[in-house]
Amino acid sequence: MSGNTQPKAVIVGAGPVACLVAIELRRRAFQVELYERGTDFRRLRGGKGHSFNLTLTRRGLKSLQPHLIDVLHQNGVPLPQRVIHHADGSLSYQRYGTEEDHYLLSIPRGLLHHTLMDEAEKAGAEIFFEHECIRADPAAATATFATSSYGIREATGDILIGCDGANSIVRQEMSRRGARMSISQEYITDGFAELKMPPSAGGGFALLEALSDPHRPDSENHGLHVWPRGDFVLLSQPNVDRSYTTGLFMPLTSADPEQPTWDKLKTEQDVEALFSRYFPDIVPFLPQLTKDILAAPPSWLKTIKCFPYHHERTVLIGDSAHTMVPFYGQGINCSFEDVRTFFEILDRRLATEELRAGIRAALADFTEARKAPGDAIADLSLAMRAELKSHTDDTKFHARNKLEKQLHLRHPGDFVPLYHMVAFTNIPYNEVIKRHHEQKAILDELCDRFDIHTEAPKILDSFPASRDGVRTGQSLSFDLAPEQQRYLLDTVVNRLLRYQEDLANGKYPASYLHHPDGAHDPDGALIGAELREDDVPQHGTNLEVLLTEIFDKAVPNGMIHPHPGFMAHVPSGGLFQAAVGEFISRTLNRFPGAWAASPGFTQIESNVIRWFCAMLGYGTGSFGYLTTGGSIANFMALRCALARAGDVAQQRGTVYVSSQGHFSVAKAARMAGIPGDRVRSIGVNRDYTMDLDELRRAVNRDLDRGYIPTCVVGTAGTTSTGAVDDLAQLADFCAYYGIWLHADACFGGFFRLTARGKVLLAGSELADSIAVDAHKSLFLPHGISGLLVKDQSQLKVAFEIGGAAYVPELSTDDAYVDFCNYGPELTREARGLTAWLPIKLHGIKAFERCLDEKLDLADDLADRLRHFNDITLVERGKPHLPTVGFGVRSDNLADQARRNERLAELINSRGNVYLSTTTLPEEGVVVRSCILHHQTDKIVIDQLLEDVQWSLDKL
Ligand SMILES: Cc1cc2nc3c(=O)[nH]c(=O)nc-3n(C[C@H](O)[C@H](O)[C@H](O)COP(=O)(O)OP(=O)(O)OC[C@H]3O[C@@H](n4cnc5c(N)ncnc54)[C@H](O)[C@@H]3O)c2cc1C
Ligand SMILES: *Cc1c(COP(=O)(O)O)cnc(C)c1O
Repeated sequence: MSGNTQPKAVIVGAGPVACLVAIELRRRAFQVELYERGTDFRRLRGGKGHSFNLTLTRRGLKSLQPHLIDVLHQNGVPLPQRVIHHADGSLSYQRYGTEEDHYLLSIPRGLLHHTLMDEAEKAGAEIFFEHECIRADPAAATATFATSSYGIREATGDILIGCDGANSIVRQEMSRRGARMSISQEYITDGFAELKMPPSAGGGFALLEALSDPHRPDSENHGLHVWPRGDFVLLSQPNVDRSYTTGLFMPLTSADPEQPTWDKLKTEQDVEALFSRYFPDIVPFLPQLTKDILAAPPSWLKTIKCFPYHHERTVLIGDSAHTMVPFYGQGINCSFEDVRTFFEILDRRLATEELRAGIRAALADFTEARKAPGDAIADLSLAMRAELKSHTDDTKFHARNKLEKQLHLRHPGDFVPLYHMVAFTNIPYNEVIKRHHEQKAILDELCDRFDIHTEAPKILDSFPASRDGVRTGQSLSFDLAPEQQRYLLDTVVNRLLRYQEDLANGKYPASYLHHPDGAHDPDGALIGAELREDDVPQHGTNLEVLLTEIFDKAVPNGMIHPHPGFMAHVPSGGLFQAAVGEFISRTLNRFPGAWAASPGFTQIESNVIRWFCAMLGYGTGSFGYLTTGGSIANFMALRCALARAGDVAQQRGTVYVSSQGHFSVAKAARMAGIPGDRVRSIGVNRDYTMDLDELRRAVNRDLDRGYIPTCVVGTAGTTSTGAVDDLAQLADFCAYYGIWLHADACFGGFFRLTARGKVLLAGSELADSIAVDAHKSLFLPHGISGLLVKDQSQLKVAFEIGGAAYVPELSTDDAYVDFCNYGPELTREARGLTAWLPIKLHGIKAFERCLDEKLDLADDLADRLRHFNDITLVERGKPHLPTVGFGVRSDNLADQARRNERLAELINSRGNVYLSTTTLPEEGVVVRSCILHHQTDKIVIDQLLEDVQWSLDKL
């Protein structure tokens, strides 16, 4: 291979992870250069830098070549158990696992590092010491170094890898140069210091010898020694040279004078007092105790998470991508697993793709694969801190552990204890958490039965240990500390985002009805019914369990409106931005009923209403009211019409709506006091718009009979076919007769933003009122609609009652709206932000563009369906709202109905899209699709057509 065709990697840092990456790259014939800030510690006597021990477990070891594992075994001590030194002086031994290789391999970091570095060099990697990275260009895969002897140097590769640890410069540079990186860093309240325990006088393992007890066989084995003492903990583990590395983890400070903290250790006496009180059994073996503790300030510990792990041709591997607190001893194991995953991905990509494109794709895959596990182990590590400090000292906890092991032995495939999953398997850490929660429920129940009451299964029981204090799961206090609120949000948002992403990627069906995947929905209704809970919950439940209930039980059944393939009825995917707006509003919890109570939010809501008015063509003097849906808007419209017509209308008023109009109109009439026998259903033309001649006849007939024609409802977008009544003509007609014209534009309203929609909805500006559903044609999540009126005062005529003594001061100026006088409600959420945030964030052009796209997609779908031999289309005008009706035709309408129902069922059974059927007056039953989800795109339409073909073949 010639020099310049050999792929090249530049690695920043030459820590253990960097060295392993280098070894693997050399196996793939990359030219590898490592640049390390420090000096070559192998040349220093005694080594330097971090001396603490690392524990390698099966998870991490699996990433190493067999001969390396052998070398490490020669340098490490296997620890099959935890040895708990209880506060009362007693000991207990707790095995980590159930098999031979279920142990932690305790190995000094320096030794591990040394081994891997030698190995990397042997494999042909070049290491440059005293090269400190000061800059990186992720797109060019170039890093710049300050060196002790050569001034500034640069290195460029096909790939740049940041293995530069917790305070990674590469990460910082990626973030500065376009990676749009989210980085979080959280310190814990603990500090930590390391103590040295030399071999015993006879050259043996001091602790092992001291604890040896012929009556307890476990005492003959090594272990990780733990002294759990509530808020602080001492850990000690043996090394091959028969010394023990010991670490004290303790809060830096505390307001409690009794609480041992680092800032209380000022003199030798302080240190001796602490140790003789809490850790008397180890004192004789720590000759340098006071010196080790007082020599230097304690180290701090932190968690760092970032996203993404890559940008362009640069990637972070190891602690640079995720730094965790050391309580689980998984930092290096996770990093080694990263390395293994990284090369699996890279090999796969490079097998088929050109070098640089393959690298780019592999890096993106890598983030995708490792981000969730990285976050999960960071959280688990925090949770382990609590377990080590207290629960290891709890007898109930041990009973529970035993039970866990029994379960595992009896059902090894189904039940695997948490620690076991984390340390000894390669189940992704995020999956581990999920499985743990499932198992926890079982274990809780068993513990209940055997009366093993313990707070123990604390691992993410409710809040991770870093959010000590209130744990919502059990707490009676509602007050959440800020970090608990953040945890709550982060946890929920993570779940939601994961779900949304999976939805968009087609991981779930568009509807579980008619979906053959029995695993999801043997019977959705039953799953829903299972959630019935008659007893009021007396005690709290932890968040993860509740989320599981929501996401595993409530979500996966029925129809999935947020699915991009959802085209039944009138869809609304629901913009996330709007949900966030609503969240802000709910959290701030202001009262929008009266201007004085919340002028800012009232104004924001009024702005939204005025924008809606402008979008529908209304001018000055118009206003409206935001409702939770079109049904309520229609009700308010009828209330307005009746109020204007006066008291007699209540007795004799009549309402007119086409036979294709929405059933909510009749319901609205009933709520407003007009019974069904005064709601006239008017026939339709061939294009399903209202037949004006028939309307005229009906009105005249009613007038003749002494009724008071009160309201005509024109439909701007019928549900079945998307037909739009001729609003301009209806306006003329109503003006002539003095009837209130209400436009039910729930489906079609916001299409007036587009050029085609302006043609379709011409005349909407002449209607007395318009109902619009922002949860339909504005893509917002369910629950945001509005009634708009041409004349603001009409709302007050309909709804104002006059002040009550307990209502906040009301204003008399119409510019300062008191919403309680404009609609049926008093106390409610401030609704404006739900629409305001997405509109302000994107500008209305974004909505116009998206609406236009839906119109195009529907036209395209119709055009392509025309080419199917067996399919007939429901005729569509030009322009037309994005509804497309189609199906097989037959002179026998009953037969046709059966076949089209079956056709829809077959299409839906594939899970890609979800369509509904409807019955049209002359055409009978047809299949219909309505394209109104913001994420429905060409790919979804292509899929739909493919599914139609597939279904026709089966029909
Ligand atoms: C107290 C403690 C105990 C731990 N115990 C365990 C355990 O028992 N088991 C376990 O699995 N994990 C444990 N860990 C975690 C483990 O140490 C880390 O996960 C591991 O060291 C990460 O390796 P790394 O190569 O990614 O980073 P590091 O080991 O931090 O190596 C980074 C390297 O990059 C170099 N570098 C940094 N910046 C630059 C720069 N700008 N230019 C050039 N070079 C640079 C550094 O000098 C260093 O050599 C523990 C960590 C701590 C703090
Ligand atoms: C959806 C719809 C309604 C009812 O609106 P909701 O928001 O579901 O209450 C009324 N009329 C038409 C034309 C609709 O499309």
